[in-house]
Amino acid sequence: AAASSGGLVAYADSGSDAAVEKPQLPQRKKVVVLGTGWGGTTFLRNLDTRLYDVQVISPRNYFAFTPLLPSVTSGTVEPRSIVEPIRRILEKKGGEIKFWEAECFKIDPQNKRIHCRSDLGTNLEGNGEFLVDYDYLVVAVGARTNTFNTPGVVENCHFLKEVEDAQKIRRSVMDCFEKASLPFLDEEERKKNLHFVVVGGGPTGVEFAASLHDFVTEDLAKLYPSIQHLVKISLIEAADHILTMFDKRITHFAEDKFGRDGIDVKTGYKVVKVAKDAITMQNPATGDISVPYGMAVWSTGIGTRPFIVEFMKQIGQGNRRVLATDEWLRVRECDGVYAVGDCATINQRRVMEDISEIFKVADKDKSGTLTVKEIQDVLDDIYVRYPQVQLYLKSKQMNGIADLVRSAKGDAEKESVELNIEEFKKALSLVDSQVKFLPATAQVASQQGQYLARCFNKMKDAEEHPEGPIRIRGEGRHRFRPFRYRHLGQFAPLGGEQTAAQLPGDWISIGHSSQWLWYSVYATKQISWRTRMLVVSDWTRRFIFGRDSSC
Ligand code: FAD
Ligand code: MG
Ligand code: MG
Ligand code: MG
Ligand code: MG
Repeated sequence: AAASSGGLVAYADSGSDAAVEKPQLPQRKKVVVLGTGWGGTTFLRNLDTRLYDVQVISPRNYFAFTPLLPSVTSGTVEPRSIVEPIRRILEKKGGEIKFWEAECFKIDPQNKRIHCRSDLGTNLEGNGEFLVDYDYLVVAVGARTNTFNTPGVVENCHFLKEVEDAQKIRRSVMDCFEKASLPFLDEEERKKNLHFVVVGGGPTGVEFAASLHDFVTEDLAKLYPSIQHLVKISLIEAADHILTMFDKRITHFAEDKFGRDGIDVKTGYKVVKVAKDAITMQNPATGDISVPYGMAVWSTGIGTRPFIVEFMKQIGQGNRRVLATDEWLRVRECDGVYAVGDCATINQRRVMEDISEIFKVADKDKSGTLTVKEIQDVLDDIYVRYPQVQLYLKSKQMNGIADLVRSAKGDAEKESVELNIEEFKKALSLVDSQVKFLPATAQVASQQGQYLARCFNKMKDAEEHPEGPIRIRGEGRHRFRPFRYRHLGQFAPLGGEQTAAQLPGDWISIGHSSQWLWYSVYATKQISWRTRMLVVSDWTRRFIFGRDSSC
């Protein structure tokens, strides 16, 4: 009876409190999202927006399906078909989400505030600048093209990063053909105008070169019969091969195919200068050579945006090249700031940094040594926290930790081996060599956006059960697993309706069948039924009528 009356009193107490205070909706925390690309958009689409006061800031009021940008350069797909207005995406979420078309130019982590500027407001008071407060900031601003400070690149080359870039390239290709057709040009000048140079043999450069080649041979050759034999496409790559991130079989197939197609693949050449009408490259054997060109596309990798570089300096990451997060995508030493996609990289925790602590946790009986069983009991948690351990065992073709333990002991026979801390260290000393950095792809950015949204959806619970830097066992129900990337495979379209595909488990497929796989994957991945229909009808139109050459 005493217990129940105690309960009753407590209830009455809280009841009278509530009666005194005005009933109030709980204050929702402010989430500010920077960027409407793959990372930002996927985050927003998966976020339970009823839980937060959400504001989205990006200089672009649409999402762009970047894998189809190379197809836009040749008019295979129309620009409209690969973009989706961000307001339409937000509208589908219901509730109120605010979008500001502006650019963040400074993050102020001390005051949990960002500085923004809108181009649309530059003629107004304050020059279009404004401040936005946040409780949580999700940085998904992507990267910029890296020119490696090569002189003349910004002035004379096209980039292929945004929809406008792809449109400009398309126009520029047509201009080169029309210019080369003019009556008063001599042969040399025609050749110069029809020399298309692609700098960078990564997936984007290769796909662009392939789609340009298709455009020229399938469509433009017929329309410009008198000059078609003067067209030349060069692909310049500083490394020894193109597509180095793919399996060797794909690299070789691509190089052979381009060779047969007459695309001049120049590997081992570094572009050192781009002038208005000549491009200079360097090779140890030949020294500097300069070649005249009509149009050049620069696609040699990505770099950090300047305001992110400033932010990194502020938070003690000034010596790094890319913004670092932990495996929960939290920016280190920076309360409430998260980063996803191309603007950041995950700093995978090393086993060797935590080895003593892992040992202590695993040594349940406090004997000062670990049995195979003790290690096995914590192994699942180690695999989650340190994926490199699993990768290492796989690379050594070991079935489990027992193999590793025995190999450290140099005793392959005995079942009852035990390791002291020094031996444990020795056994795991090489696993960190398997730490992998994730590639800058849409696949990574969108998986990170989705992961982070799920964490945010459970955040309130999680605040009551925060995870420590390493918690191996027995943590609360709501702990988050670290982000884990699932590689679903990668395509390299090579032109002529042929695509190379590298799927999980090193499954390689090259040719027309993978082209159909490519069509179906990219159709399914479209962000809405509207863009899916548009893209598929663009493809169909192209099959029937070819590509449009009026620009
Ligand atoms: P992004 O998608 O680049 O988005 C960045 C967003 O931030 C943009 O909305 C931008 O406007 C905004 N922003 C920029 N500055 C600011 C600022 N100061 N304040 C606020 N907002 C800002 N990946 C694949 O997996 N498969 C492919 O086939 C593939 N093909 C590609 C082809 C091309 C031509 C290119 C360029 C990329 C391709 N990628 C592909 C890579 C993929 O597009 C990127 O990895 C992905 O876009 C990264 O997502 P993100 O959200 O980090 O950045
Ligand atoms: Mg983004
Ligand atoms: Mg994007
Ligand atoms: Mg990244
Ligand atoms: Mg023990």
